[in-house]
Amino acid sequence: MAMAPERILGDELMPIYEKLTRGERLGFEDGMTLATTKNLTGVGWLANLERERRHGDRTFYVRNQHINYTNICNKFCKFCSFYAKKGGPEPYEMSLEQVRERLMRYIHTPITEVHMVGGINPRLPYSYYMDLIRTVKEVRPGVHVKAFTAVEIVEIARVGKTTVEGALRDLIEAGLDSLPGGGIEILSDRVHRELFGRKLNGEEWKEVARAAAKLGLRQYATMLYGHIETPEERVDHLIQLRELQDETGHFLTMTPLSFHPEGTELEQIDPPTADDDLRAIALSRLMLDNFDHIKSFWIMNTVPVTQAALWYGADDADGLVQEYEITYAEGDFGNRSQRLTYENMVAMIRSAGRVPVERDSLYHEIVRPEPKRVPLPLAT
Ligand code: SF4
Repeated sequence: MAMAPERILGDELMPIYEKLTRGERLGFEDGMTLATTKNLTGVGWLANLERERRHGDRTFYVRNQHINYTNICNKFCKFCSFYAKKGGPEPYEMSLEQVRERLMRYIHTPITEVHMVGGINPRLPYSYYMDLIRTVKEVRPGVHVKAFTAVEIVEIARVGKTTVEGALRDLIEAGLDSLPGGGIEILSDRVHRELFGRKLNGEEWKEVARAAAKLGLRQYATMLYGHIETPEERVDHLIQLRELQDETGHFLTMTPLSFHPEGTELEQIDPPTADDDLRAIALSRLMLDNFDHIKSFWIMNTVPVTQAALWYGADDADGLVQEYEITYAEGDFGNRSQRLTYENMVAMIRSAGRVPVERDSLYHEIVRPEPKRVPLPLAT
């Protein structure tokens, strides 16, 4: 017998449930209640209603490969463990040959998306970025190239002595298919000043998004949480994204990203808990009524939390990834190889009680023969 909503939600969350049932948009105060209430179960229950209303049990994943082409960066963001620094990662810059070799490493995996981001490396010429995309398309014809956050787009335009729109046009001509999230972390002038003041600010980030939308590029959105941001700033970030989506309609998915302090200038901060991770997913699902998809990125919040997140609003579990230089594998500072096999991914979703659906980058379903069953426990 289903439990009455009042029992789960209590007086605090019932008004939000009523708004959702009437199809009303949630406001800032609702967001603050969801972001701060002790009743996380109730928040998850509400987010799950919205998730199941849109997608039922379906849970999307993509066969992708990440390539982080350089870790040399002149932005020195305080939350970042990726860029090369003394006592940290050694600097690298991939040649086109190395990119080709990285792609060939997984050539027998039927990958449909290549996701490329890197540091802001002023030594790279304009042509490098176009050649990067052309190399991917040459080795893997037909693959979807999702590449370059807004901060990279601004840098590419700078070295090319052109406008953001001009750079985007050239990248599209070379084969760019969409823009990833990232580049802004949290739309807050305070956090921008304190953590990533050398990077573009919120308004500049929005201008890149508008230019991408104008040229017909789809884009993904993110929110890096669990550092110095306040609950108010999280809710405000989501509302700003929602307003931008009202204007452009070009965002496909929202991915909350769990902050990893190890190796950053914020090492003293406790990392987000599973409670924080699940709440960020649920809050995103409930506030972003004009986003079709909410993704739980297992690399950042672990496989077990992603399994729970599929009941807290997430309908997407990202992909196989292969190698990811931005954060370290848990408990292994120095190991940047993080991957799930196709069988692991399907088993992760099934054992969470959901139905796996392979998708392409634009959420078209891909039907393939059933994978063989694999036993748990899963790799993390
Ligand atoms: S987050 Fe990006 S821009 Fe900032 S330091 Fe790291 S690589 Fe550079």
